[in-house]
This record gives sequence, structure tokens and C-alpha cells, in this order.
Amino acid sequence: MEQKIPYKIYLNENELPKQWYNVRADMKVKPAPLLNPGTLQPLTQEDLAPIFCEELNRQELDNDTRWFDIPQEILDFYKMYRPAPLVRAYFLEKALGTPAKIYYKFEGNNTSGSHKLNSAVAQAYYAKKQGLKGVTTETGAGQWGTALSMACSFFDLDCQVYMVKCSYEQKPFRREVMRTYGAKVTPSPSNTTNVGRQILEKFPGTTGSLGCAISEAVEAAVSQPGYRYVLGSVLNQVLLHQTVIGLEVQTACKKYGIKPDIIIGCAGGGSNLGGLISPFIGEMLRGEAQYKVIAVEPASCPSFTRGKFAYDFADTGMICPLAKMYTLGSQFIPSANHAGGLRFHGMSPILSQLYHDGLFEARSVEQTAVFEAAQMFARIEGTLPAPESSHAIRAAIDEALKCKETGEEKTIVFGLSGTGYFDMVAYQKFNDGVMNDTIPTDEEIAANLANLPKVE
Ligand SMILES: *Cc1c(COP(=O)(O)O)cnc(C)c1O
Repeated sequence: MEQKIPYKIYLNENELPKQWYNVRADMKVKPAPLLNPGTLQPLTQEDLAPIFCEELNRQELDNDTRWFDIPQEILDFYKMYRPAPLVRAYFLEKALGTPAKIYYKFEGNNTSGSHKLNSAVAQAYYAKKQGLKGVTTETGAGQWGTALSMACSFFDLDCQVYMVKCSYEQKPFRREVMRTYGAKVTPSPSNTTNVGRQILEKFPGTTGSLGCAISEAVEAAVSQPGYRYVLGSVLNQVLLHQTVIGLEVQTACKKYGIKPDIIIGCAGGGSNLGGLISPFIGEMLRGEAQYKVIAVEPASCPSFTRGKFAYDFADTGMICPLAKMYTLGSQFIPSANHAGGLRFHGMSPILSQLYHDGLFEARSVEQTAVFEAAQMFARIEGTLPAPESSHAIRAAIDEALKCKETGEEKTIVFGLSGTGYFDMVAYQKFNDGVMNDTIPTDEEIAANLANLPKVE
């Protein structure tokens, strides 16, 4: 007989994962190495040393160690907001009239409002341990900058955030949260860096992009002694830290006899998706289980579904290492009326390789459909979801509705990566009925892909 599943499954503090899981150890085809943008040779620890912290470089380049111990100081911080609940969406199931069982892993239970704190605290901890003065970073919608400012204030590190200009202007309260935690926030592109000045000259009036803010933050890190750059997504190390999400889901599923059939996450740079699915993909790679895994991305920034699997720069300024990934081209900037986050042109190299090898599927959704799902979810399940997370909600609802047609009682697990309290400008557009969908044309995408760096 099926055990009655509580509405919210809360694990105990002592059920927190003690180690992060490195899915690369189980991958037969490893993600392609990052390349030095100057020499086009694989990056070494020495190349990375001026940019990232030592221990994080080690994690970045390690394709073989399956488990990394989580240091006690990080575990202690995790205890402030983890384990995160796995929620059975009973109300949503009922409203949809579906025989599917829907669960979501809720990562919004901390002040920064998203999963990003899971990696922010790790990165701040290693920076402090190395004796650094501070870190620089970029933030798009503001969640990463907020998470990092929280982590830096906890470990007493200086935190400099380059915030994509349109978010800086649209989300003044995000900025103030960061400043409350002691971060210095600069709208990007800015005239405080060479690369920012160049971009401003070339594109006056630009509202910025993540790729451009990354270029500025990297320049700021390498030009100040005692500073390193940290990044909230895309990198192997970030996926590693985020595996606490999927590991907790596995523990909860085991405890309650839940067997997921479909696992869904939204994909920007791939960190929450990678964190959620890595432990399950590991089971697939080892031949222990089979799941249908779905990555959901915006139709206005469709890296998986319309991008190319190729080496590309991670940033607009083309000073960062090259990564082999699904990309729309480093000069791609999503339409200004795209409100739903997930704006990065590329994708995690780990996820790109796994996708290329057919371990999961991807689909793109339009933002009005995403906000319809967000509104429905808020009204039925109570939580106001982040627009990013709402891409996963959209796909989960669509899968549950398919089950309604076929009568299949599938178990769906999706990642609710965060809350949307700071996204009210986007919600306002939706509520006013003035939100529309902008999808790049084939010509636009081809033109950007024609400029990919030539790497064999
Ligand atoms: C940043 C963010 C994302 C997208 O980033 P990924 O690295 O793809 O996870 C998704 N959801 C929320 C709530 C975020 O803050």
C-alpha cells in the first residue's frame, strides 16, 4: 500500500548531504576542457589561478573524483535554510484533474530567494580560506548577487557586483538588499572598466547583458590584488555545489518510496537543473535507473533547442575562457521585452555534453505561457514563483495534462528554483496584458552563430 505522503517533506538536519556529487566521474564522454582564449590550449590550474580561487579551480578541472566532502563551515551555513522541502502539489493535481503525482523541490526558502545561495556560500568560504580580500561578480536578475552578498557578509569578504543595467533600473529593491548585506553594486556596462567603456562606445544606450557584466567583473578581479572572480552558474564547480538539491530529493524519495518518472527543471546557465538532475543522471549513466528528464528554456533565448554545440566565449567582451557548450553566440542578447530571466547565451558544458549524448531532452516555452503557469501556480499552491522557475512549472503542468489524457499515473518532480517577489515589473506587464513573446528569427540566430570562434 502506498504510504501517505505529507504535503511537505522536510528532512532532518542530519539528513543533509555531507558530500557533493560530481557527475563527470560517471560520464563516459567528459565535458570538453575550457580553453585559454589566447592560446586555445586547455586551461591549467595556473591559467585559472589569477581568476578563480585555488580550491574552486581544483573542483572545476576534476573530471574523476565522484564525491567531494562539504566542509563543516558550509554545512553549518546550509543548516540555516536547508534541507529544502520537497512539496507534494496536491492542490495543483486536484485543480488540473490529473492522475499524475506532482512534486516540487522548493529552493526559495532563504532571503536571496533562490538556489544560488548553495554555491555562493561555498565560493565565499573557499575565497576566505585562501585569505582573499574580496570577490567580484556579475548579476543578471539579481538573485546571484543577492546570494553572494549574503555569503560574503557571513564570511566577512568584500563583494563587488556588476549588475546588468536593465535589472539595476527595474529592480532597485534587489540592489538595496545587496547593499544591506554590504555589497558594492555597479550598473553594467559601466565606465569603471576598459571592457565596459568599449561596449558603451560601441552600443550607446544598451541595457546590458550577462555576458557583458561578466567581462567587467573578470577585469575588476584580475586588476585588484587579493580579489578573485566568482560566477553563479554554468561552471562545473557551481553544478557540483548545487547537487545538494538533487541529493536531498533522492533522500526524500527513498524515505517515502517515491519513484520519479519525469524530472523537470528550468535552464539558464544550467545550475539548478544540473544540481537537481545530476544524481539521477548518475543513476542513468551507471545503468541503475531510467528517467525522462526535461530542460525548459525561454523561446527568446533557446540555447539547447536552437543553439549550436561548439566552443564559444562565455562573455560578450571575449576575454573569458572558451567553453564547448550549446550556444547562441557570445554576442547574442535576448530581446529587451523578454522578462523571464534565463538570459545567458550559453549553457553549462556538463549539461551540454549530457544533452548531446541524449541523456535528457529540452524544450522551449514562450513567456506569456510561462506567466500563465506562474499565475496559476501562485493562486493554487500559494507560492509566488520566480519567472525562471515558472518555465519548469509550465512544463510540469503540460506533462500532468498529458497524463490526464492518457490516464497514466506518472510521478513528476520539478525544481521550483526560487520566488518572484522582486519580479513584479514582469508580473505587472503580464497582469496589464501587455506582455508579448519575442522569438529570434532563424536569420538572427544564424548571424550570431556565424561569428563563433574557429576552434577545431
Ligand atoms: C538564476 C536563476 C535561475 C537560472 O540559473 P540556472 O543556473 O540555469 O539555474 C533559475 N531560477 C532562479 C530562481 C534563479 O535565480
